[in-house]
Amino acid sequence: MPFQRQLFIPNKRDYITGNKRPEVKCIICSIIENSPEVTNLLVWKNEFVAACANLYPYNAGHLLLFPARHINDPRELSEAEFQHMNFLLGKTMDVLDEIYKPAGYNIGYNVGEASGASIEHLHQHVVPRYSRELGFVDITAGAKIIIEDPATTLEKLKEAFDGFTINT
Ligand SMILES: [Zn+2]
Repeated sequence: MPFQRQLFIPNKRDYITGNKRPEVKCIICSIIENSPEVTNLLVWKNEFVAACANLYPYNAGHLLLFPARHINDPRELSEAEFQHMNFLLGKTMDVLDEIYKPAGYNIGYNVGEASGASIEHLHQHVVPRYSRELGFVDITAGAKIIIEDPATTLEKLKEAFDGFTINT
């Protein structure tokens, strides 16, 4: 499972164990509400869904897509939310193709406590994959290098999403 590998990024360990986690009820809800308690990595939002850069990216361009509503299982998505998630995913891939030109993607939800999910609010990972990445051993040895600062990612992406609307 590719997303399990995130657990081996040393700087994420504190976050998972709660040491550095902001004191808010839900990080994703706080991001949507633009709360000063959290680092705001919001890239785009409408009334149903939103996209933000991952504070602890697995790769450059790693984004999280989520419903505005606090739910924790994809089966709870309303039809409108489901459609908006899909349109947003399409747009996200277009934007990432354009900016980062990845060779592939891992896209998916982590659901439930055994899945490696560290935030309860349902979110879809969109992880661009590149041809020349470090292997599993490099990652477990702590040598994984994050190639781009999330703040840099954020600026590029915000610009690319500017003016985007979903009409269903
Ligand atoms: Zn939430």
